[in-house]
Amino acid sequence: MYRIGIDLGGTNIAVGVVNDAYEILAEHSVPTRAHRPAEQVIADMGDAVETVLAKAGVTIAQCRSIGIGSPGTCDSGTGVVVRAYNLGWDHVPVCDMLSRRFGIPAYLNNDANCAALAETVAGAAVGCKNMVLITLGTGVGGGIIIDGKIYAGTAGAGAELGHTLLILDGEPCTCGRRGCWEAYASATALIQQTKRAAAEHPESLLADVPPEEITGRTVFDAADQGDALAQQVIHRYCVYIGAGLTDLVNALAPEMILLGGGISRQGEKLLGPIRNYVRHNCFGQEQGMVPVIAPAKLGNEAGIIGAAAL
Ligand SMILES: [Zn+2]
Repeated sequence: MYRIGIDLGGTNIAVGVVNDAYEILAEHSVPTRAHRPAEQVIADMGDAVETVLAKAGVTIAQCRSIGIGSPGTCDSGTGVVVRAYNLGWDHVPVCDMLSRRFGIPAYLNNDANCAALAETVAGAAVGCKNMVLITLGTGVGGGIIIDGKIYAGTAGAGAELGHTLLILDGEPCTCGRRGCWEAYASATALIQQTKRAAAEHPESLLADVPPEEITGRTVFDAADQGDALAQQVIHRYCVYIGAGLTDLVNALAPEMILLGGGISRQGEKLLGPIRNYVRHNCFGQEQGMVPVIAPAKLGNEAGIIGAAAL
């Protein structure tokens, strides 16, 4: 049997057919063109399913389910996308609409949760029952797996791990609150921290880069060239990440924490100091339940695989 996974994004809809080993047999992608009526987007999703089935040489009768990973708040119990700002969706019953068209069950969850689930079936956390995936990107995304299942809270409204408090009355966050972890640990935050440091220290290599050209990589490149300020900025950024992860360890004691997103490609430069912080600060320190902290393995395909695994 096969499963269909749909990764619904603000820009593209990626659809794949996976086998029982969670290998993607065929993939097809179409532009989302968000902010049109949801019925039109869902019709395009359905057409993309037909296309990908033809590509894979699989019929709908050979598929057990369709899974959808969507941005925003998703109620997996009802199959309704409750709210997705970057799609302009408000209470859209996407599962009903797709299962009516194809005659097989459809399942829904948030895209960050799908990415976490994907790592447990085909990525860096295979066989792991309790894990957390943190994605460091524009924001900080989180997915929690408990007993092999996604934990998303009541009506899918939880696991917003980026919006937990790091510093009371701290930096403003996109959610309207101040001091959220995301405002310190996202790639966006790192860019801001790099810009500030550069402005205050004209002697640093960081000050040689025009502010508008500073990216998440700038500080790592300068650190590689021996710039002391860049090394300090990275160290502080790792402490911000580590402090948030320590709270997750104390609350959930996962076996494993995976880090995803572009910044996680810095590997040990980031993971080393983060591991060190968590080991020395979690409850019980080294004798405590210190999880494995590792990079996520799946890239763009995590969305399709995770959705299919729902
Ligand atoms: Zn926030």
